Amino acid sequence: MRHEIVIVTPFQQNCTLLWCEHTLKGAVVDPGGDLPTVYAAIEQAGIEIESVLLTHGHIDHAGGARECASALGVNIVGPHKDDAPLLDDLASQAEMFGFPPVKGVEPDQWLEEGDVITLGEVKLEVIHTPGHAPGHVSFYERRSRILQSGDVIFNGSIGRTDLPGGNHAQLLNTIREKVLPLGDEVYFIPGHGPSGTLGHERQTNPFLR
Ligand SMILES: [Zn+2]
Ligand SMILES: [Zn+2]
Repeated sequence: MRHEIVIVTPFQQNCTLLWCEHTLKGAVVDPGGDLPTVYAAIEQAGIEIESVLLTHGHIDHAGGARECASALGVNIVGPHKDDAPLLDDLASQAEMFGFPPVKGVEPDQWLEEGDVITLGEVKLEVIHTPGHAPGHVSFYERRSRILQSGDVIFNGSIGRTDLPGGNHAQLLNTIREKVLPLGDEVYFIPGHGPSGTLGHERQTNPFLR
């Protein structure tokens, strides 16, 4: 699987293109905003986008989802339905954080733990990773050992849990029980900031001591 990060919104969110290098079929994960930049990256990569995937319902990740999906003629897939209240309420998130006005987003398909999304020869496994947001999901590609972790774990940090639906103990449990066991060599792409390996976080992340 190939990937490319497009940094969007004032929150410097890692919108990510994921695609199968053989068929050039792919997905856009978390098109939170700045859509012209996202479209330019898709064109540059020469790939065919089959879906908009969402890790969770925060404005910096989901704010541009419906406009992007409509423009590309594809469905919004994910996150888990426990994030429905966040997605319904995108308008007030936009107001609170100074984003352009946006309507609530209703995904075309909710995701569950164990679901698999196929992009050409790529299979993305869905992991329900609550804590930062109740319906947060992460996408794991086992062959290339790449995890789109969203706002669960960052290089040197973890997701904040002071927003509605956040739960610190649950987030730590998610990281210990579902994320780190994927393996030290797994390369993760977080929702913000630089990528890294899970092994590096296991050994050095101050929140996991
Ligand atoms: Zn978030
Ligand atoms: Zn975020």
